[in-house]
Amino acid sequence: MSIWDLAPKELRALTPYEPGKPIEEVARELGIPASSIIKIASNENPLGPSPRALEAVREMLAESQLYPDGGCFHLRQTLAEHLRVKPGQLVFGCGSNEIIELVFHAFLSERNGSVIASQYAFIVYKLLSQLFGATFIEVPAKNFAHDLEAMRAAIRPDTRAICIANPNNPTGTRISNAELEKFVRSIPSHILIILDEAYYEYMDSPAHTQEWTAEFPNLIVSRTFSKIYGLAGFRIGFGVFHPETAEIVQRCRQPFNTSSLAQVAAIAALKDTEHARLSREVNTAGMKRICAFFKGRGVEFIPSEGNFLMAKVGDGSAFFKKLLQKGVIIRPLGGYGLKEWVRISIGTDEQMAKLETAWAAVS
Ligand SMILES: *Cc1c(COP(=O)(O)O)cnc(C)c1O
Repeated sequence: MSIWDLAPKELRALTPYEPGKPIEEVARELGIPASSIIKIASNENPLGPSPRALEAVREMLAESQLYPDGGCFHLRQTLAEHLRVKPGQLVFGCGSNEIIELVFHAFLSERNGSVIASQYAFIVYKLLSQLFGATFIEVPAKNFAHDLEAMRAAIRPDTRAICIANPNNPTGTRISNAELEKFVRSIPSHILIILDEAYYEYMDSPAHTQEWTAEFPNLIVSRTFSKIYGLAGFRIGFGVFHPETAEIVQRCRQPFNTSSLAQVAAIAALKDTEHARLSREVNTAGMKRICAFFKGRGVEFIPSEGNFLMAKVGDGSAFFKKLLQKGVIIRPLGGYGLKEWVRISIGTDEQMAKLETAWAAVS
């Protein structure tokens, strides 16, 4: 007997998520100092966390022997006010990925439904569907974007959830506010709509989807402090739900699933509107710069509403390795069935300059 025989077949068949390559690992492999390497592979904020968040964390550190407030009282109040929702509509998680996992625990643990998502959608939905024994229905993308009509048409009697990333990672494509609202209204109330808005704060005039949840108990809006707020290492995200849906999902979480450090960091980050504004500004400038660079070189790319961009390079994996030799970490997309494409996170002006130099040298 092998210990693998004890694991469910879905788990045995699972290919684990492949994260961006850490700087330290590249430094070790190439034998060059970490300081000479840039990582623009995981859509992290190149400005780092808000200095105010770091200050709050420093103050909190000395109390690390205490368990956190599992209910996140202070963060809940601050965020509810910020989003104009009721405190009881929020659930916090160890990143927004945990929120999505908690939703699966709550509503897909019977291992018999199907889940719909778009081709090229964020891969976590497929992984979770496999893990929970749900049939994963992948709907072909339209010009790399979610085809909402086709996704609705793919609904089967056993469909339990539809996952949407808006903007989507890795394609950067966005659904218009009007189209999104029409879609939410058109989905039967027994099917969950998991709306993953990790890049919400980067969008121009986004819909106030968090407010829609009060009307639609089947709508789940997940957002994060990992991206524009620069707190990916702290692991904190949240979901906005109808109050009853929130209550169900709350039952699935561990009592202390977010740390006290993450909670105070998130509060301070929310209050530091200047840092968020600057982060957005740097992103807009970097995006403009890199798009101009690609246009100048005739590189095909998909216009993005996030803090990253997908470009066509031929052999994505080979190109990734060549850039790695120049100390630039990007993300190949073979795992998404996009072998000819790579994804680049938008960095500071200096990082974009380094990318351009390295790009010109290897292509
Ligand atoms: C980065 C990202 C997340 C965020 O994950 P966290 O667990 O909050 O760090 C969620 N969804 C998408 C589409 C992402 O790209």
